This record gives sequence, structure tokens and C-alpha cells, in this order.
Amino acid sequence: MQALPPVEERASPNRDARPEGAPIDTIVLHYTGMASGAAALARLCDPAAEVSAHYLIERDGRILRLVPEDERAWHAGRSYWAGAERLNDRSIGIELVNPGHAHGLAPFPEPQLAALMALLRAILARWPIPPARLLGHSDVAYERKLDPGERFPWERLARAGLALWPGRARARPPDPAEAERALVAIGYRPPGDAGSRQRALAAFQRRFRPWRVDGRLDAETMGLLEEVAVLSNGGRGSI
Ligand SMILES: [Zn+2]
Repeated sequence: MQALPPVEERASPNRDARPEGAPIDTIVLHYTGMASGAAALARLCDPAAEVSAHYLIERDGRILRLVPEDERAWHAGRSYWAGAERLNDRSIGIELVNPGHAHGLAPFPEPQLAALMALLRAILARWPIPPARLLGHSDVAYERKLDPGERFPWERLARAGLALWPGRARARPPDPAEAERALVAIGYRPPGDAGSRQRALAAFQRRFRPWRVDGRLDAETMGLLEEVAVLSNGGRGSI
């Protein structure tokens, strides 16, 4: 297990106080989606951009702290998880330098992932955040966001006890009503219409079946949905 590398302080002005009494119980992972780490850092510290994150992790594994964890960083935007809006209130946001979908989805390099896992362990020692609440931006804002993207190794984080992973689920006959119940039981915002349902399914696949992200409810996706719904609720019985 790697020790936490030194964290560089680079204060961003894009922050404010968390609401009184807000729990810190969620982590949201992002990719920067920009050409370079320097460009992303400049934007995350630009008052005009009005965006930030608590941490930025460079591709070589350097960790920069932009906002202290007990303050609110502005990373998730309009967002929802498990009945709560505005995930910025209660989450810690981590940006991973990666060019993203617009630039061909580069893999996440080993030093960056090692730094992320060490940082996650340090955060989890400070705050009671369950594996089911380590989320991607695309989970909490599936109508707008694709990050950290299907190349992010969620399965590896799950093997380290940091995230949820369904393992091998049984294929099930697709049932749209059951699928929607499972999505909502996992935490996704209830889809509003057919397009929104497809985007929610794509977000789920991007996270739990990254080898095929097509937004279609097939038998494998149906099986995975039911499996993750049970895992998300602590393995307690049916959804
Ligand atoms: Zn993001």
C-alpha cells in the first residue's frame, strides 16, 4: 500500500462554506477534459470560471490541494444522488488530469492511480464515506457529464475496497420498470423520459459495464442493475 505523497497547496478562490450541518459522505471523481494539467489548474483557480475541486491529481501522480475538505468546492454543478440535490454540499471533489472524451480518452497512468488510491485512503480515514458513495461525475449528473469515463478502472478501486463492483451478474430478462426501480435504488436521478432513461443506463454502463456503453437495456445490463442495487443497499434483500 503506497503512502500518501506530499500534497502541494494551490488555493483556489472558487469555494465557499458548506451548508450548516451538511454531512461529508460522498466523493465525486472527475477528469479535467482539457489539453494539459496546467490549463486545467489555471481554470480551476480562475475566479471567472467559478469551478474548482478539492484536489487535482496530475498524470505523474502529483497531488494539488485547491480547497480544504471542510469547505465547499464547486465541481459537481447541478447534480443528484440517492434523493439529494447539489452534491457539492456534501462531497469531496477530485479532478484527474486526463484529456477526456473530446480528445480520445487517454488511459489513466499508473502513478496517477496510485496517488488517487493513497489520497482516497487518507480521505476515508477522516470522513465516514462508504464505498457505495465513491461516485463519478457522470453518476450524479448523467444528463450532462461523461467523466471520469469508461477507461477509469472502477473494478480496481473496488478490489482495493474503495468502490462498489458487481462481479459477475446473472443475465436477466430486460424489464424497463424493474430497471428504472433499480437505477433509483442505486441512487441515480429518476429518469424523466425515454432519452433521459437511455442516458441514465449509459451512465450505469460506463460505470459498471465499461466494455459496452450503448444505453440499451439488454439482459446483461438488467442482471448488473439488480446486482448493484442490492450491493448499494448493503446487500439487504430485494430492491
Ligand atoms: Zn466533472
